[in-house]
Amino acid sequence: STQEQTPQICVVGSGPAGFYTAQHLLKHHTRAHVDIYEKQLVPFGLVRFGVAPDHPEVKNVINTFTQTARSDRCAFRGNVVVGRDVTVPELREAYHAVVLSYGAEDHQALGVPGEELPGVLSARAFVGWYNGLPENRELVPDLSCDTAVILGQGNVALDVARILLTPPEHLEKTDITAASLGVLRQSRVKTVWIVGRRGPLQVAFTIKELREMIQLPGTRPILDPVDFLGLQDKIKEVPRPRRRLTELLLRTATEKPGREEAARQASASRSWGLRFFRSPQQVLPSSDGQRTAGIRLAVTKLEGVGEAARAVPTGDVEDLPCGLVLSSLGYKSHPIDPSVPFDSKLGVIPNTEGRVVAVPGLYCSGWVKRGPTGVIGTTMNDSFLTGQALLQDLQGGLLPSGPRPGYTAIEALLSGRGVQPVSFSDWEKLDAEEVSRGQGAGKPREKLVDPQEMLWLLGR
Ligand code: FAD
Repeated sequence: STQEQTPQICVVGSGPAGFYTAQHLLKHHTRAHVDIYEKQLVPFGLVRFGVAPDHPEVKNVINTFTQTARSDRCAFRGNVVVGRDVTVPELREAYHAVVLSYGAEDHQALGVPGEELPGVLSARAFVGWYNGLPENRELVPDLSCDTAVILGQGNVALDVARILLTPPEHLEKTDITAASLGVLRQSRVKTVWIVGRRGPLQVAFTIKELREMIQLPGTRPILDPVDFLGLQDKIKEVPRPRRRLTELLLRTATEKPGREEAARQASASRSWGLRFFRSPQQVLPSSDGQRTAGIRLAVTKLEGVGEAARAVPTGDVEDLPCGLVLSSLGYKSHPIDPSVPFDSKLGVIPNTEGRVVAVPGLYCSGWVKRGPTGVIGTTMNDSFLTGQALLQDLQGGLLPSGPRPGYTAIEALLSGRGVQPVSFSDWEKLDAEEVSRGQGAGKPREKLVDPQEMLWLLGR
């Protein structure tokens, strides 16, 4: 049975979901072999390309992933786009089981007129730009305006606001790319509005990120006390994390700051604010029609209460002048292969506990399984559960019996198609190069952003 042989398992995607699933499989099965396929030349998904450069502690999970990748029963196969270079049916044929952990790479479109104007960007692309995602390296946002509007009130919105407003000298020792730091140094952005369709009780960011904003050097918060009227009574009923978050918002909006804080705020040259009950209606063009001059917001009110409350337009509108609009309405998964079921409404692969519905031997984990929310810890737990389901099926004899060729078969296919995968030791060479390039500037690394250069460094 497969039990006594080497189960050949394939994982698609090398973000937290891919690595935590692989880790679980290797730990709980003594012979399983896991190949992790990744479209980028480098591993770690959003840990490298999403997590903000000023949150280095979050990236420590890379050490655990590196341990997994160095196991002699695990191999990283970078530079392979599953769905293009190799299909899911081909992988299913070569392996006993396939786990899809390819994340959520698209962004939720704004869907309003004017969205195509220069000056309108997705937060996803902006994040990719400052984090060195190759496809976004030429984005170079125009930061010559004084006001930016971020649509959405989650942690990604706060990451983007923080990067826009942090004094550049505070980012110098992070792994932000040299090119984006150069653009941020020239930035004229003074005010950032973070706009939400609903109210203070529905914000999606967490208290740690809010606290960072409130304490951001050289900036002051602008919160309208009117938005918080009557909230004091309502918060008694909400669960504790949300209560603490709302209390912090409330204090910041309504309490007079102490002497020291008041002085700090008075000397601040930049500001940020939360705008509630506003939904984007149209991006307003400049008089020559060539760029963004503002955004028209529909005023909303809530129907229902709590997390489930819906924003409905009141009929009033408000125009907010700005030169930059960043839409941060969420990430979105896309279907990877016509043979894999996909729920386009929820943006996930339909599954029960990680088992893809109606496709034996196919599993999923991470954002493509749960939807694009939740921190790395959440992704870890759900990936362990997927790993567990897979091993149960293996033990229960539900996976194909008899040996499977694994990578040997795929290698032949890829080579015939002119695809040259990279290995984990290739990444370790690039890693060493990045670390060495960062050293002079006192940075943990200077990221390589050009795939051609990376391949050249690898002698390809
Ligand atoms: P991903 O990390 O996106 O990994 C998916 C991988 O699959 C990627 O490497 C991708 O290149 C690869 N892939 C995609 N398509 C293919 C294909 N066709 N073939 C092969 N490979 C493919 N969490 C925290 O705990 N702390 C934070 O500070 C934090 N900050 C964040 C900041 C941002 C901007 C974002 C977006 C998220 C942040 N998160 C943070 C959340 C965290 O990043 C996610 O929970 C986690 O990365 C989800 O893991 P995943 O493996 O499902 O997806």
